[in-house]
Amino acid sequence: MPESLDETIVCVDCGGTARLMRTWPPDDPPEEGDIVTYQCPDCGERLDIVLDVEDDLRGDAIPDA
Ligand SMILES: [Zn+2]
Repeated sequence: MPESLDETIVCVDCGGTARLMRTWPPDDPPEEGDIVTYQCPDCGERLDIVLDVEDDLRGDAIPDA
């Protein structure tokens, strides 16, 4: 599991603490470039976060919308 995977992040909606939702099997953790989901208990917002990619060698970084 990448070191960049935080257990919690600041909710962009209300400033609360959104917690990481573990939606993957224990033997198949997300890799850099994958999307993980956090959910804020304060406002219920779900936040999809792309894990930080150290470099673009894999070429599958998601472009800005
Ligand atoms: Zn929130």
